[in-house]
Order: sequence, then C-alpha cells, then structure tokens
Amino acid sequence: DSRFSTQISHLALDIGGTLIKLVYFSPNGDNCEDGSIVVGNNGCSAVQGRLCFAKFETRKIDDCLDFIRLNILQHSGVQHPNGTERDKLSVKATGGGAFKFADLFKEKLGIVFDKEDEMHSLVCGVNFLLKTVPREAFTYLDGQKEFVQIDHNDLYPYLLVNIGSGVSMIKVDGDGKYERISGTSLGGGTFLGLGKLLTKCKSFDELLELSHQGNNRVIDMLVGDIYGGTDYSKIGLSSTAIASSFGKAISDGKELEDYQPEDVARSLLRMISNNIGQIAYLNALRFGLKRIFFGGFFIRGLEYTMDTISVAVHFWSRGEAKAMFLRHEGFLGALGAFTSYKD
Ligand code: ADP
Repeated sequence: DSRFSTQISHLALDIGGTLIKLVYFSPNGDNCEDGSIVVGNNGCSAVQGRLCFAKFETRKIDDCLDFIRLNILQHSGVQHPNGTERDKLSVKATGGGAFKFADLFKEKLGIVFDKEDEMHSLVCGVNFLLKTVPREAFTYLDGQKEFVQIDHNDLYPYLLVNIGSGVSMIKVDGDGKYERISGTSLGGGTFLGLGKLLTKCKSFDELLELSHQGNNRVIDMLVGDIYGGTDYSKIGLSSTAIASSFGKAISDGKELEDYQPEDVARSLLRMISNNIGQIAYLNALRFGLKRIFFGGFFIRGLEYTMDTISVAVHFWSRGEAKAMFLRHEGFLGALGAFTSYKD
C-alpha cells in the first residue's frame, strides 16, 4: 500500500489560544492543502519534498490529535507496531499550548514536546519566509496586490505585527535579534468574541462572510455626521473618516436587533483593523522603522482587512511607512519552530 511508504519525517506545532497550527514535511505532498512550500529543489538540501500546513481550533484539539495520528504518525513509520519506541518521539512545539497540552500529547500520541519560545519562533518563521520563499511578502493598497522584492542585505530592521487572539509587536534587528516592544489585547480574539456576541455568528468564517456584505457607515459616526456632511479640512479629516466607531448606536435610540448583523460585523472588523494599524504605525514611528510586516491568522488574506490596515498605516505615516503582508501569515510561529530542527 503506497500510503504506508510515505515518509513524513518532521512536524512542528504552534498551539495558540484560538488555533493550533501544524507544519509538516511530506516527500510527495500527500494531503497537502494550498500554500505548501517546495523544499530541497535547489540542490542545496539532501531532502526533497513539501512543507505542508494544517490548522485546527484549539477547543477541538481531538481533531488535531486524530490528524497527527492518521496522517503523520502512521504514514511516517515512526510509530512502531509494538509501541515500545513511541515515548522517544519528540516534536518541536511553540505557543502557550505547548505547555498547557504537553501531558495530553504525551498520553494520547506518545509525543514529547521540545518547546521553542513563541516570540523567537515567530521571528525565525518570518525571516525564513522572507529569505527563502519567493513572492512571500506583498503590499495591498486600493485593491492592488503587489509582491515585494526582498533585499536580503537590507532586510532589517523591521516591525513584525502578529495578529492572533491578541497582538504582539516585535522590532526585529537580525536573526535571533529582536525585542517585543508593544502589543494590544484588542486583536483577533476580540473581533471573534465580540462578533459572536453581537451577531450570533458561530464561526470566524461566518463572521467574515457577514462583514463582507455590510456597511460600517450605518453604525460608525463619521466626521460628516458631526459636521453636517462636510469635511473638517482644517485638520485634514474628510467627511467619510470615522470619528467614533459604533458611535451612531448611541443617538438612534435603536436596539442591537434593529441593526443588520452584517453592518455590525463590518464596523467591528474596521474598528479592530484600524486600531491595530494605528498602534503599529505609532510603534514604527517610535523606533524609526519604515517596514511593517503583518502576520497572524486574523488577516486570512482578506482584502478588506488588509486594505484597512494599509490605509491606516499610509494615512498616519503620510506615506512614509509601508504595511506588508505575508502569504503564510498564520503559520509564522509553527514555521519558526520547524526551522529550529536544523539548530
Ligand atoms: P493564536 O495563536 O492566538 O491562536 P492565530 O494567529 O492562530 O492566534 O489567530 C487567531 C485568530 O485568527 C482568531 O482570534 C480569529 O480572529 C482568527 N481566525 C482566522 N481563522 C479562524 C478560524 N477558522 N477559527 C477561529 N479563528 C480564526
């Protein structure tokens, strides 16, 4: 049976507050979803194959255990029939769940976590992507996606903004040289948590789909709402700029039920994205950084999110700083943990 001849020799996990991210090596790319990275085709590496990606909700950790058992352990030949060698299987893991769920993985799969620091892994993951994966970074402005040519000799310093459940902002000065300079608790978890409460959506995808159809101006108080439809041009605020996110909800005498859930979802997405863009810009300004890379599963390649963040950075920096996004945005920590096998 060819399924059992598949060799999957390595696996790394990033277990976050909301999602578990997996990176694993597959020689022939079996079970690989979109976005897998071809490795070893440049003659530099002895192994050839693909880096594959998978994600699971942390609250449904059993699905992740089943996936690893069926698609990785059984295929890789590392699980010995009599089970005697199983305890020796060590796997790189990062994120808070590497601590929280260590016993569970040991008990259920016989996997022992070799823990990697979360921030270190994030930075390693981004540096790996920027240095080795072509067409990884791109800008997104006014509906235009443009890939960024990365100059390996002029990569640092940059600001990394990782938008997961919460947000971390890390100033990166080189390989392994970094400092977490800021963060905010208003992140992807806030969007998903508030979104679920306000719209009764069950999932992130449902919430995104809703926000797609909505109009934030129904609920957000715009400059024009305050100034009777005109700009406040003296200080450079257009009539369509948001003066107060959700601000209209106070004056209308309306209840939550009177608003369309899609408009609520749209305002919420705009509020969170704008706020992160602004805090990112302020931190870039603090350290004189011109390049800001955004990662984390909150972004999900969504045009509206990227556009909002880009406009915020562009607006506040008057075009000085650049927001960039990464194709493998959600797997930065897991990739970093994976690359540490070489250490
Ligand atoms: P963490 O490591 O904290 O779990 P992630 O980078 O995995 O962070 O991002 C988690 C965030 O990504 C969630 O808070 C949510 O906003 C967003 N997200 C994207 N896709 C999903 C999904 N399928 N299920 C849940 N959250 C998702």
